[in-house]
Amino acid sequence: MDKKGYSNGEVTITWEPKKCTHSGNCVRGLPKVFRPKEKPWIKIDLGSSNEMVEQVKKCPSGALGYYFE
Ligand code: SF4
Repeated sequence: MDKKGYSNGEVTITWEPKKCTHSGNCVRGLPKVFRPKEKPWIKIDLGSSNEMVEQVKKCPSGALGYYFE
């Protein structure tokens, strides 16, 4: 399975590239964290767990997910 995970020690944000439709919702909604031109593209340490989870919930394709550790 092609799923990547990014952890800040509290929450892990997951991303499945094949599901991503590149809608840009995450980039527009929380640009300090979701930076598609950088590697890694999700800057897990630059957002609060809560704001990242709230943004992940708005991903229209289901490519983004999360779980608390
Ligand atoms: S919101 Fe979801 S589908 Fe849209 S670019 Fe981000 S990860 Fe991809």
